[in-house]
Amino acid sequence: MKLRRKLFASKDPYDCTRSQLFLDACKENYGHLISHCDDYKKISEGLGIKGVEDISAVSDLPVIPTMLMKQHDFRSGRYMVMATSSGTSGKMSHVRFEFGALMAALRMSIKVTRYHGIMSFKPCRYIVMGYKPHRSNKTAVAKTAYLTTFLAPAISRKFILKHTAEGYKPDFEGIVEALRKYEKGKAPVRFMGFPSYTFFLFRLLEERGLSFKLPKNSRIMLGGGWKQFYQEAADKETFYKLAKKTLNIDEENITEFFGAVEHPILYTDCAAHHFHVPVYSNIVIRDPDTLEPLEMGKTGLVNLISPLCKATPILSVMTDDLGILHDGSTCPCGVKSPYLEIVGRVAPEDIKTCAAGAADILQGVKV
Ligand SMILES: [Zn+2]
Repeated sequence: MKLRRKLFASKDPYDCTRSQLFLDACKENYGHLISHCDDYKKISEGLGIKGVEDISAVSDLPVIPTMLMKQHDFRSGRYMVMATSSGTSGKMSHVRFEFGALMAALRMSIKVTRYHGIMSFKPCRYIVMGYKPHRSNKTAVAKTAYLTTFLAPAISRKFILKHTAEGYKPDFEGIVEALRKYEKGKAPVRFMGFPSYTFFLFRLLEERGLSFKLPKNSRIMLGGGWKQFYQEAADKETFYKLAKKTLNIDEENITEFFGAVEHPILYTDCAAHHFHVPVYSNIVIRDPDTLEPLEMGKTGLVNLISPLCKATPILSVMTDDLGILHDGSTCPCGVKSPYLEIVGRVAPEDIKTCAAGAADILQGVKV
């Protein structure tokens, strides 16, 4: 996996000049998958792709739907770590990572978080608006939220979702109590986790007439379920306004992440809140009926591509998201690569994601 190493060693995480290297790294990954996973080989042949010579663009790679991954456990090599999607109905994808994939992911995380100024050596206090790690929870969303607490040295970690005998329960009172204490200290506070819980906390504070002046450089980081949240609960403007009002955190100190267990690439929003496509991945938007690639600006199914992993065939996966790829060259942030906008899901009533699960829990919480 020489080409993967080269790609993930790119100096600039948004370097637009590496598309040939990207394609070559995908071909390298494809070559591994067809020789190490019979199911993948069969799918590939079924699509009329018999070998590397049939691939001249990233959109030619065989596409595996994430829905299929939830029903069938694909394997394509030895692994060290496994993550699962947060399917509430018992159906979930299993994604396995070998050592090389973990190293590539680590390099990517360092480059991207450094680029966005999220990495810091200043010790801080973490408030995780998500799951407290527990051996029963193998979801990627719990793992990544926990990993994020290493981006700056942690003095302490407080989790809103506690594991109880009846499953996970949110502890808003514990967070309010912690805020009272942290406000008096010097260490910045970093929030990480579900936007829905974070927003719910803002509303709770506002209703009680509480506001905190958190120490300088405090941040809010969001991930793992913003789509549902922005459609149903609040627009971004309201979210940013409430963050300022209740926690004194400015818009520029609010960062969002986007990713999926079947596509573990770190998308981080820029100053203009766009999810630019980094050098490690490509996105093809496809016509929902014909699956043909669509041009920029058109709405279609989101096909995510990355040669990150060898142990699971997640080279090119089709999500059930509907999205638009926008031309990024005019974005005021300076990054030139296209950016992704998620506009909805194909069949929202059938799909229960972690966001939906979180929304269910929220309904039972009285403010
Ligand atoms: Zn931008």
